[in-house]
Amino acid sequence: MKRILISIALLATAVLTSGCGIFTKTGTGSPSTDSVKAPAVDMSGKTGIVAHRGFWNCREAGFSQNSIAALRLAQENGFWGSEFDVHLTGDGVVIVNHDNSINGKLIWNTPYSDLKNELLKNGEHRPTLDEYLVQGAKSKTTMLVLEIKKQKDAEHEDMLLDKCVAALKKHHLFKPDRVMFISFSLHVCQRIAKEYPEFVNQYLNGDKSPEDLQKDGINGIDYQYALLGVKSSYIKRCQDLKMSTNVWTVDAENIMKKMIANGVNSITTNEPLTLREVLGDNELKISK
Ligand code: MG
Repeated sequence: MKRILISIALLATAVLTSGCGIFTKTGTGSPSTDSVKAPAVDMSGKTGIVAHRGFWNCREAGFSQNSIAALRLAQENGFWGSEFDVHLTGDGVVIVNHDNSINGKLIWNTPYSDLKNELLKNGEHRPTLDEYLVQGAKSKTTMLVLEIKKQKDAEHEDMLLDKCVAALKKHHLFKPDRVMFISFSLHVCQRIAKEYPEFVNQYLNGDKSPEDLQKDGINGIDYQYALLGVKSSYIKRCQDLKMSTNVWTVDAENIMKKMIANGVNSITTNEPLTLREVLGDNELKISK
């Protein structure tokens, strides 16, 4: 009975302190090694579903990754998060796209007007971040997982981050319970840690230990599943450091089960309905 009461108390604490159902905002200020502003890890034991580039892998989205339809479908299905990628065009427009080129045109060398009408499979034009966030703002129960892609140099990565922050503010989405950041760029993650420590900020590149990231104030990892299979201690070490954990990109049921058993907070997948089935009652959702 005593153990049950302690569990209920811990769960109640998590619910009361959690802004979005999984992570807790723990303050602002510059990070330091002894007081990293790490969002606390959810203690419910449930796992969030992150739709990779939106819920694109279905007829309704026209099988179009990073489309506005794919974001809308992720929201309508109530997935915990919906991931998307952003780049900076040659004339300084932030657009939503995965690769750094579109039909042979390098995004950072090309003005948006020359990219806009390189249509997605479902007929949408390449969305600007501004257009994308109009849809993003329509749901409070799906976290926007914003991947800031590497740019040609740190100066352009800074410009991209600044423009993302400005766009999020414009759409009233610059809030830790509405958006989180991920990046392969250590520079981007370090800047977010320094300037916006209250946001979940996960490093993607897999070449840093949890302890090394914490020294920089970076409060989460988002690593490839094969790496986390080899370095399975990373998840427990992140939990001990109160760092958040996500794994990409898991489409096979057996790997989903393994990662859930390892205790990751959330899983990025192209097959969110399969993951939903695997999780059953253990799916983490954001309540309104
Ligand atoms: Mg991505």
